[in-house]
Amino acid sequence: MNESLLQRRYRVIGKNAPLFYDQPLELVRGEGVWLYDSDGKRYLDVYNNVPSCGHCHPHVVEALAKQAATLNIHTRYLHENVVAYLERLTALFDDSLSMGMLTCTGSEANELALRMARHASGNQGIIVTDGAYHGNTEAVGELGTGFMPESAMTQRVIGVPAPDSYRGLPGVAAADLAGAYAQRVQQAIDTFAERGIGTAGILICPEFANEGLLYAPEGFLEDAVARVRAAGGLYIADEVQGGFGRTGEHWWSHQAYAAVPDIVVMGKPMGNGHPLAGLVARGELVESFSEWAMYFNTFAGNPVSSAVGMAVLDVLENENLLANAVSTGAYVANGLRALQEKHELIGDVRQKGMFFGLELVTDREQKTPAGDIANDIINAMCRRGVLISRIGEHGNILKMRPPMPFYPEHADLLLAALDDCLAEVQL
Ligand code: PMP
Repeated sequence: MNESLLQRRYRVIGKNAPLFYDQPLELVRGEGVWLYDSDGKRYLDVYNNVPSCGHCHPHVVEALAKQAATLNIHTRYLHENVVAYLERLTALFDDSLSMGMLTCTGSEANELALRMARHASGNQGIIVTDGAYHGNTEAVGELGTGFMPESAMTQRVIGVPAPDSYRGLPGVAAADLAGAYAQRVQQAIDTFAERGIGTAGILICPEFANEGLLYAPEGFLEDAVARVRAAGGLYIADEVQGGFGRTGEHWWSHQAYAAVPDIVVMGKPMGNGHPLAGLVARGELVESFSEWAMYFNTFAGNPVSSAVGMAVLDVLENENLLANAVSTGAYVANGLRALQEKHELIGDVRQKGMFFGLELVTDREQKTPAGDIANDIINAMCRRGVLISRIGEHGNILKMRPPMPFYPEHADLLLAALDDCLAEVQL
């Protein structure tokens, strides 16, 4: 590790800017699912979902370079790229989600969704799940129940327990869980009514990714959305993590449920690393919002970004990466379940397409979270050349979410390294 680069970084970025691993990595190159550090050491990337087509995918790089060498300009002129991109993107959704707005980050897109929901409903209250993260602007910071101080100061956001079939709610039988979690949503709606601000919407990641890749009890989401709609609010699906085929079976994680969102927010993998994000929504919501407030974003949807977005869709389709998320995803999940038989530490194995969560516990009965051990494991994995991370309220859930061209030969490397690292841990 280059010590002086770390010191220089501390001076200009500060010590509180997050860095992964006890020994931070200096990465200099990427290709497919592989990353290379400044010493030439190769790492299998099982963490990064942003380079969803694979690091530096040649088709995406070429689309970017070609358009950058031709013209880059904002959207106040006519240009084929942004129109063609939004036509192709909206075609991947339910017919009702017919219009889109582009941004540069997921935070901006969530911010826009909040404004749109508050404008359309005339209400202010937003319901989110505890432990979720939706971005870094001031209004979006109010939603982030984890590490956003704004969330403690707001009256217009209420966090409800994230629906978790593994841990459940104290004293509630498994069969009653969906209703019990939905009841918490009802309580939030009632509280907003008492506060006189009403319910503008529920903003939810249907994959419950940042919460720990949770399996929601069946029927919860539909019940929660129905209650919010009955109160005049909207359903906003945050697909920043779950979108663009990550779950394999669908393009969007909300499609695993019967409820169709009013607004869908997306980002991260949308530009394979290029800053491209946005939302799609029911056409009338976009129309009425933009009559009320002029929306313009200098960089969003420019011809280069739109060309990149288009190239990302090409790769996902041409390389059958959704089908691969189903098949390789199942292969990894089988391997993880075999590890669970062998290692007491693995309390629960979760998988949705090409996204995996391993909940580590020191006691399977008590489900005691093993956060420190999870930290030791991700560092040990890194030393072995496999990059993963951890999530969840207790930091005890191993988070594995590789670029989509991740195949069984890569999965074997991941599983062997995990097996070794788990074997080293003393309970
Ligand atoms: N929503 C979710 C679910 C996210 O995970 C994130 C980023 N981790 C965001 C929104 C914010 O996106 P960005 O960092 O692009 O602003």
